[in-house]
Amino acid sequence: MELFDPSFLWNRCLQEAENRLESTEFEAWLKNSTYEDINGTRLVIRFRNSFVAGHVKSRFGNMLEDIIRNVSGRSELALQFIGDPAEPGPSVVERLAPSREPSSSDYTFLRSNYTFEHFVVGPSNQLAHAGALAVSREIGSTNYNPLFIYGGVGLGKTHLIQAIAHYLRQDGSKRTFRYISTELLVETFIKCVLQNDYTTFRKLFHGIDYFLMDDIQFLKGKVETQEAFFHRFNELHQHGKQIVLTSDRPPHELPGLPERLISRFQSGLVADIKPPEYETRLAILQLLVRDEELEVSLDVLDFIASSIRKNVRQLSGVIHRLAAMSRLNGCTIDMNLAQKEIRSSLGTISRRLTPGNIASIVAECFDVSPSQLKGKQRKRSILVPRQVAMSLIRELTSISLMDIGSFFSGRDHSTVLNSIYRIEELKEKDPELEKKINEIRQKLISI
Ligand code: ADP
Ligand code: MG
Repeated sequence: MELFDPSFLWNRCLQEAENRLESTEFEAWLKNSTYEDINGTRLVIRFRNSFVAGHVKSRFGNMLEDIIRNVSGRSELALQFIGDPAEPGPSVVERLAPSREPSSSDYTFLRSNYTFEHFVVGPSNQLAHAGALAVSREIGSTNYNPLFIYGGVGLGKTHLIQAIAHYLRQDGSKRTFRYISTELLVETFIKCVLQNDYTTFRKLFHGIDYFLMDDIQFLKGKVETQEAFFHRFNELHQHGKQIVLTSDRPPHELPGLPERLISRFQSGLVADIKPPEYETRLAILQLLVRDEELEVSLDVLDFIASSIRKNVRQLSGVIHRLAAMSRLNGCTIDMNLAQKEIRSSLGTISRRLTPGNIASIVAECFDVSPSQLKGKQRKRSILVPRQVAMSLIRELTSISLMDIGSFFSGRDHSTVLNSIYRIEELKEKDPELEKKINEIRQKLISI
């Protein structure tokens, strides 16, 4: 039998991981790990605490298993990450921190034109807009607590939540607020865990009347941050502080969030933003054109509003590029220029999409790994996502059926074709699946 030293193997694995990762990442998460034991074919690796172990598993687990199988030549090996319970949690988060007024640097995240004045209201966003305005005007607690705004990419969620912040800054009532992205919240929490000092995290919630948090879907899988956030949320709520959250989906569809957090999110006003109707798109274009001080005829605006339907960010992108072109070249923005711009902006979408990034987004949305998606298993929970990925690659790129087949571990073109037909059939029968595919498509065309 070949000699096999698991401790040596783990060190080799670390060396390889160090080559692949940013050095700060390697040092923060992997450097101090140690081999502990072997359990069947599973190497048990110990980390500083269970939080770090959990994070390593979700961020780097697949990569580390790939490496360990490669360096050992044994495909049956697996890894298990352990650590003692992290000290932190709410009890440490409770530690008192000195209070302070939010400083002016807290406002630097606000985009200057994300105000109510610059927000076009239409049937697609009316409720979310009314909710945002109501919580801004109301002094003291409202019935809309929390206000939960959700909707697809580029539809104005960040704009609305920042509009509340602008309003509070300007109305002279001295109400204080914190605006933060969920990613920054998670990052702050992780830093606190690593330094075992929760002062900065606690400060985020201290001494404020409004807590505005953007993109709450990024709490997915961040169990310890969720826990700490849950306690802060309750405390703010009990003290009548207003909370506003945005998300790319409604509370009950947030994956991997505990039920008690979801029911808190549902306890106030839940308002959605849909893709804007034609009239709203046209009004948004008119506002953008006025801001840029451009002259554009109505039929050109009509053409743009009819071509770009799903995403306001794309609408504003087109106007900004047209403005730049007309300034640089001194030309007027006519139908010809608009058509060229629309063609090339739709073209850039398809150039940026590759089978690899489509597959990885599809895998993520169905909670399977990219290698399962490309692999041979025919379990329904993997087969359907694989077929969805094939059909989206076909739809969004100009890659041939044969090449799609070879991307999926050498399948032939008829398998790909059958998969695409199969998804068409399934969509007819299963509106949930159809909805999910539409969401993934929306996500893909906005990357
Ligand atoms: P999200 O956060 O939902 O992904 P954003 O709030 O970043 O989207 O909006 C994308 C872009 O579209 C921003 O430039 C924003 O100002 C603009 N926008 C979205 N909705 C509207 C609207 N109703 N009126 C004016 N501009 C809008
Ligand atoms: Mg946003």
